Amino acid sequence: MTPADQVLALVRPDILALAPYSSARKEAQGGRVWLDANENPSTPAAGQPLFNRYPDPQPPDLLAKLAGLYGVPPAQCLVTRGSDEGIDLLLRTFCRAGQDAILITPPTYGMYIVAAGIQGAKVVKAPLVREKNFGLDADAVIAAATANVKLVFLCSPNNPTGGLLERAAVLKVVRALAGRAVVVVDEAYVDFADQPSLATEIPANPNLVILRTLSKAFGLAGARVGTTIADPAVIAVLQKVIAPYPVPVPVLLAALGALSDEGLTLARQSVATLLRERARLAAALPKLPAVKQVWPSDTNYLLVEVADAAKAMALARGTGVIWRDRSKDVPNSIRITVGTAAENDETLEVMSRV
Ligand code: PMP
Repeated sequence: MTPADQVLALVRPDILALAPYSSARKEAQGGRVWLDANENPSTPAAGQPLFNRYPDPQPPDLLAKLAGLYGVPPAQCLVTRGSDEGIDLLLRTFCRAGQDAILITPPTYGMYIVAAGIQGAKVVKAPLVREKNFGLDADAVIAAATANVKLVFLCSPNNPTGGLLERAAVLKVVRALAGRAVVVVDEAYVDFADQPSLATEIPANPNLVILRTLSKAFGLAGARVGTTIADPAVIAVLQKVIAPYPVPVPVLLAALGALSDEGLTLARQSVATLLRERARLAAALPKLPAVKQVWPSDTNYLLVEVADAAKAMALARGTGVIWRDRSKDVPNSIRITVGTAAENDETLEVMSRV
């Protein structure tokens, strides 16, 4: 078996055998008179181009731009409705309800458990090590990966703790589980880190899948544009499961704008500003009496441990400032997103009064 075949052997057998829905736009290209998809020949309103037609299921121009951005071939990319859809697709593709499991490393992003719950997959846990800055215990993950674990979700940088997982530890897990499980590295926040993505490791490790998004560094959370990056054989299977037209035309236009030369410059400037502001908050917050600890962050947020999270949240809320209480993950901890300079001043002002 080739390494790619070993990954395909982990896919649900019924999905492997499934004949996918074939949409009109997949079946025909290069036509002149389009009468195959029951569309309306007129657009709904002036100035709204192309909205009357179904979009390309995976618009090649967007795919090419994203592939260029992430430094991988287009055949390794699937555009999804946010990276959340990538998580859901992976669950539905690899996990048989009532039999298979995912492995997560708490405290981590909450969607993995929810997607597992929807699919009827079990959840195995191998916690991050608080004493090592919430670092990855590769040996513990490998030992916990029982035969029914099909997907291992590693979030790097991790939500909500903020730190990158050590590259060598992640790759150790990926290699140890080759042929046994797919390792999904969720890099939603890697644009704010000073380390490169692991996506370039996919050719050598077909059981590695990377999740990226335009929601954070590119400021397109409202447009819902995520990318699942994987071996082309895995992408082909995910394409069987994804909804027929996951990239609506307005979303395509927004994404192409964000990925234009001007958009890329704006995103770079935005990330640079947010990193400066993150450093300012990370320096100022620990000086406030209510703050016990600020965890190191490679993201656009800080996890802040306080004496009494409920009290701090209530005081902030009373002034209209909304943070996120993550005490269920890390006791008495609040996740604070880095905002504009004025918004960050408000965070400091409110926290100084707690
Ligand atoms: N992964 C992580 C770690 C996240 O924090 C989020 C956003 N909350 C997502 C994925 C999903 O982001 P989106 O669907 O907007 O791409």
